[in-house]
Amino acid sequence: MHELSIAQFVVEACAERAEGGRILRVTLEIGKLAAVMPDALRFCFDVCARHTPLEGAALDIVELPGRAICRDCHCVVMLDDLLARCTCGSCNVEIVGGEELKVKEMEVA
Ligand SMILES: [Zn+2]
Repeated sequence: MHELSIAQFVVEACAERAEGGRILRVTLEIGKLAAVMPDALRFCFDVCARHTPLEGAALDIVELPGRAICRDCHCVVMLDDLLARCTCGSCNVEIVGGEELKVKEMEVA
């Protein structure tokens, strides 16, 4: 399960950086094209956080829109999924945003 490995990674990375402190809140930035289901990730995060400095921490998920640039007309296209098509009808687009997956910030007690 994709979300479980992401949650494990986030918990490990944050626990390492907290240097023994308790983590109250973690903010994640997730692009809409990263194929992550926020609800599933939240659930996995709670499970993975047990018996770690992140136990009981709040998880904030900021969803970033998918963005692409059309190679034909050079306009910016907003995407909800990977089926990218410009308003000019071209499928020749380059994805430039929406695949992010990173810890934006964390609050340590
Ligand atoms: Zn176009």
